[in-house]
Amino acid sequence: MTRLFSGTPWDRPPTCERCGELVAACHCPPPPPPRPSGDPSRQTVRIRREKRQKGKLVTVVSGLSASQTDLPELLAKLKSSLGTGGTLDEDTLVIQGELVERVSAALSKLGYKVKPQGG
Ligand SMILES: [Zn+2]
Repeated sequence: MTRLFSGTPWDRPPTCERCGELVAACHCPPPPPPRPSGDPSRQTVRIRREKRQKGKLVTVVSGLSASQTDLPELLAKLKSSLGTGGTLDEDTLVIQGELVERVSAALSKLGYKVKPQGG
């Protein structure tokens, strides 16, 4: 009696884990990137004050790495700890109000290195 082997896994072409199709034929979207969990202490952020439309002052946080930082989460943390609004502008956090010192303190507390301004 002959047994039919479909081959060991090593003999099979790779298949997609999600749809089971051959990888070459798979149309699944690429998997989402893992949530960034970089070490904040390896990032140096810059915080500056900016004047926006109608003379509104905002505090701009730049120098963050979007690949190492969950920026929306960081923004949410800052907004709740500062009790103010803010938006994400690409890799830059824009916090409403002139809060350079408080933002610096909040980010330092989270472990970020804050580059001093001025000079
Ligand atoms: Zn697939």
